[in-house]
Amino acid sequence: MTMGRIIINRDRCKGCTLCSTVCPQNVIFMAENQLNAKGYHPAMLVDPDGACTGCAVCAVICPDVCITVYRETTQRTKAVREAVTI
Ligand code: SF4
Ligand code: SF4
Repeated sequence: MTMGRIIINRDRCKGCTLCSTVCPQNVIFMAENQLNAKGYHPAMLVDPDGACTGCAVCAVICPDVCITVYRETTQRTKAVREAVTI
């Protein structure tokens, strides 16, 4: 299973909500009680259970290129991959 996490450049975010609407894991929310440097409520990752898969749908749809995606595989996935390539 692939695990992921994202970093959102909050001061570039214009609060359009596109990323939060497309995330299949529903782990992106708008920070309704915060304002960024542009005066928008920025998107933020809320993922206490590590549900983000690193699918990158959020990064692809963001019109302002605010989201960087990091993806890592578990040891089990790596082991399977190595077994397949031998
Ligand atoms: S990488 Fe995928 S799962 Fe993770 S926050 Fe973005 S859309 Fe959601
Ligand atoms: S899609 Fe980009 S600009 Fe829109 S809310 Fe998400 S991070 Fe902000």
